Amino acid sequence: KILITPKSFKNYKEKAHRLLQERGYEIIENNLGRTMTEQEIIDAAQDNVVGIIIGIDPLPANVLEQCKSLRAISKYGVGMDNIDLKRAEELGILVKNAVGTNSISVAEHAIALMFASARNLPAIAAGVKSYGWDRTIGFELTNKKLGVIGGGQIGKEVAKRAVGIGMNVTIYDPFFKDLAFLEQYNVQRQEQLDEVLKESDIISLHLPATEDTKGLINAEALKRMKPTAILINTSRGELVDEAALYDALVNNQIAAAAQDVYSSEPPQQGDPLVALPNFILTPHIGAFTHEAVERMAMVSTENLIHMLDQ
Ligand code: NAD
Repeated sequence: KILITPKSFKNYKEKAHRLLQERGYEIIENNLGRTMTEQEIIDAAQDNVVGIIIGIDPLPANVLEQCKSLRAISKYGVGMDNIDLKRAEELGILVKNAVGTNSISVAEHAIALMFASARNLPAIAAGVKSYGWDRTIGFELTNKKLGVIGGGQIGKEVAKRAVGIGMNVTIYDPFFKDLAFLEQYNVQRQEQLDEVLKESDIISLHLPATEDTKGLINAEALKRMKPTAILINTSRGELVDEAALYDALVNNQIAAAAQDVYSSEPPQQGDPLVALPNFILTPHIGAFTHEAVERMAMVSTENLIHMLDQ
C-alpha cells in the first residue's frame, strides 16, 4: 500500500494513481483536509504501507521507527526538513525529493512579494476595498541590489527574473558551483554573508532549513541590513528569528519583510509580528500553482515507483 498525504495532490491524482495501481499498489489517501499528525501517520502505516508520498507532514525518527513496512519516502516538493533523513538512512528507508518541480512557481512568488512590499500592495488594496483612496508612496525595483541567499534551483530562477527587471543581483551560497550561470545572467557572487546583508536593498532566502541554517537571519544579521531593506522569505520560517524580526521592523532597523512561510503555520492568534503593517505573510502558497502541483504529483509518484523498484 501507498500512503499519499498532500491535500493538493488530489487535483492531479488520476494519472498518478493509475501509475501506482498498474504496479499493483493500493492507495490510502489523507482525507482529513489538513496535514496528518505523527500518530495519524503511524496508524495509517500499520496497514502494510511500503511507500509514502509526503507533503509537510511530520516524519521524525519515532514515526519512521513505527512504520515497520516502510521502504521509501517520496517528497511532494523540495524541502525535506520534516523528515529525519539520518534515521531514515539507518533504517534503510529510501528518500527522494521532487527536485526542480516547483522552482518557477516559488521564484515568481518571491518576485511578487518584492513588488508587494515595495508598493505596500496588500494594505493599499485592502484600503480601497473599504472605499479608502490612500496613495502610499512606493519605490522601484529597477537598479536596486538583490541579495539571493542560496543559489540552488529556486535562487537561480529568482536571480534570472530579478536581472530581467533590471536589478543588480548577488548570490551568497558557499556551495555554489555554476560559474557559467553567473556569466550568462550577469549575476555576481559574494563569499561573505555579512557583505551581502550590508549592501542589499532586498534579501531573498532560498536555502534549506537545517541545523546549520536555522536562525540565520537573527538580531545580528538584521542589524547589518540597511534601514530601507526588505527581507523576503519563501523558504522556511525557521531561517528567521521572528522575535528579532519583530524588533527590527518596529524599530525601523529594516523597512519591511514578506514571508510565505512561518514558524507555526498558521500563526498563533494574536502573534504581534503578523499584525505589523510592514509585514506581509502568505499561507505557504509558493509552490501552490496548477503547473507546480501537477509536476510535483507526477515526479513524486515516479520517484516513489523508482525507489520501490530497486
Ligand atoms: P536547492 O537544494 O536546489 O537549493 C538550496 C541551495 O541552498 C543550495 O544551492 C545550497 O548550496 C544552498 N545552501 C545550503 N546551505 C546554505 C547556507 N548556509 N548559506 C547559503 N546557501 C546555502 O533547493 P531549492 O529547490 O532551491 O529550494 C530551496 C528551499 O526553498 C527549500 O529547501 C525549501 O525549504 C524552500 N521551498 C519553499 C516552497 C514554498 O512553497 N514556499 C516550495 C519549495 C521549496
